[in-house]
Amino acid sequence: MTTASPATPQTLIELDGVNKWFGKLHVLRDVNLSVNRGEVVVVIGPSGSGKSTLCRAINRLETIDSGSITFDGKPLAAEGKPLARLRSDVGMVFQSFNLFAHKTILDNVMLGPVKVRKEAKAAAREHAMQLLDRVGIADQAGKHPAQLSGGQQQRAAIARALAMRPKAMLFDEPTSALDPEMVGEVLDVMTSLAREGMTMIVVTHEMGFARHAADRVIFMADGQIVEQAPPAEFFANPQTERARDFLGKVL
Ligand code: ADP
Ligand code: MG
Repeated sequence: MTTASPATPQTLIELDGVNKWFGKLHVLRDVNLSVNRGEVVVVIGPSGSGKSTLCRAINRLETIDSGSITFDGKPLAAEGKPLARLRSDVGMVFQSFNLFAHKTILDNVMLGPVKVRKEAKAAAREHAMQLLDRVGIADQAGKHPAQLSGGQQQRAAIARALAMRPKAMLFDEPTSALDPEMVGEVLDVMTSLAREGMTMIVVTHEMGFARHAADRVIFMADGQIVEQAPPAEFFANPQTERARDFLGKVL
């Protein structure tokens, strides 16, 4: 069991007693989680333990049934402009890249800033090119998603989320759909983001990433946070049988 720590100005994301059911299935059980600005939290756990639901709830892609979630000191917006603002503030990267197939990579990255943030096209283009350069695919800007490798598409998806100038980034198994040789290039981009101080929640089975990039590892099972600790501590000395069992399977 975890208990909520009091929110401080350092807190960016705060979940307090969050419960979520899908019908009779209790998928988030009294989840308390406080993420500080600049903190990198890696969430691990067996399939079906509620990791994706947790991420989706923070972005309000799922509603919750009880408890509260605050982002940057405010309860999550439910609709309209405040919800659009929340979705720009919390960038999300999924297993499937979800790029618009009929648009170029550059257009994919510019679209949100121009349509949602009402940025001028020239400025949005310049920022998009900077971001594509940062993720190492500036030379792919004029191509369509299908012309890129999976790793390049995922890096484009990261650039697209960053274009909204998010305060936090959520990654839900961002490398699970990639061929093994492309995992590293995506993790490298995520590692550099982490080093630059981005607040991140990362659901992943990449234990190497958890070890070197996480400030804290959270182990979920059956909708609960079962354990949390700095990575060195967690991997050296998991406290529960469930965590030991899980690590035995993934390491
Ligand atoms: P994880 O990401 O850890 O694999 P999920 O958050 O995706 O877990 O799912 C937690 C549980 O909720 C699973 O049992 C899953 O089948 C169920 N679930 C997820 N989304 C839905 C949904 N939209 N409707 C019904 N059940 C769902
Ligand atoms: Mg999932």
